[in-house]
Amino acid sequence: MARMQHSTIREILKITKRPEIISFAGGLPAPELFPLEAFRESLNQALSEDSTGCLQYDVTEGYPPLKEFLCAWLSRHGLSCKPEEMMLTNGSQQALDLIGKAFLNPNDRVLVENPTYLGAIQAFNAYEARYTSVLMDASGLLMAETEQKIRKDHPKFAYVVPTFQNPSGITMTLERRKAFIKLAQKYKLPIVEDDPYGYLRFSGDIQPSLYSVAKGRGVVYLSTFSKILSPGIRLGFVIAPPEIIRALVLAKQAADLQPNSLLQRAVYCYGKNGHLDRHIPFIIESYRQRAGTMLAAMDRYFPSSVRWIPPEGGMFIWCMLPNKISAAKLFKKALAQNVAYVTGRVFHANGGGDQTLRLNFTNSTPDQIEEGIKRLGKVFSEAL
Ligand code: PMP
Repeated sequence: MARMQHSTIREILKITKRPEIISFAGGLPAPELFPLEAFRESLNQALSEDSTGCLQYDVTEGYPPLKEFLCAWLSRHGLSCKPEEMMLTNGSQQALDLIGKAFLNPNDRVLVENPTYLGAIQAFNAYEARYTSVLMDASGLLMAETEQKIRKDHPKFAYVVPTFQNPSGITMTLERRKAFIKLAQKYKLPIVEDDPYGYLRFSGDIQPSLYSVAKGRGVVYLSTFSKILSPGIRLGFVIAPPEIIRALVLAKQAADLQPNSLLQRAVYCYGKNGHLDRHIPFIIESYRQRAGTMLAAMDRYFPSSVRWIPPEGGMFIWCMLPNKISAAKLFKKALAQNVAYVTGRVFHANGGGDQTLRLNFTNSTPDQIEEGIKRLGKVFSEAL
């Protein structure tokens, strides 16, 4: 318990629920885009086609037809796997917890990107992990530093979000992906690839997953329905060699026995009726617009010394304030103007990142984005 910290983001979410606040803080999908009617239909269909299955206990690995559907769906996205290499989890957050439970002993090191996903730090902290953090540039993890730190710290595995990373929005280039896989194979370093955002690309070229680049060797791949359908249904999936799936299944049995029977069947109906393929382009189009609105407003209202990385997809824009301006200190001033963001510090496993902050563009309308960025620009300009 001493190593476990509460999530600053979840605390911020309590404040930002106030209606007057324009929040760029959470990582929430746009609620007005939820496919309510199609999902209602799918739930009804699941209940009428397999009522007993919907209400009964089920296998830990996940509902087999959903796994088969997912394997076929993923193969159309360039990722080839078999149902025995897959399990369903209660969101990919649970997969992170199960990975920690199955593979981390106290004081084992996890190599992470700097910055990295806060929820992964939270999950691994429960298993008393230590972190070896490696800086990124706009092409992803820096390879020389990665190699040097693998040799020095002997991490148990690497945890990375290579596509539209949370929090930085950075996408690892193909060249960097290949170099990283080569390094990982040289040092027999397993990789956990977390990919909740990869299906939300609105510009640039599609990059193959690390899992695909490595042809599955040494990579555990995680993704989720949270950003492409709904986070409330809490369904994610893991792809890994069968022996790793067996370990994670044991860990999951102890945690919660199985994924939700009803929702797995509803998502299966939703997918097989073609809704997933229809819905994702719809989300992407809206996120492209919102990201564009935010970037244009940043150009207009932020002082020129503030820098940021334009993302090609996902949900976040990462900002860097000029020297000595603390994003944490400015947070209160921003909140006084009824606008919120997440300070970058919380995403740094070993401290630092004081001048950075994360902006979410998916959970506000274009008008709110315009107004919120204008207010933030004022706060930054005054601080400068
Ligand atoms: N990994 C990353 C990088 C995330 O950003 C998130 C959600 N914020 C998760 C995992 C967890 O997603 P879920 O449990 O909803 O699938």
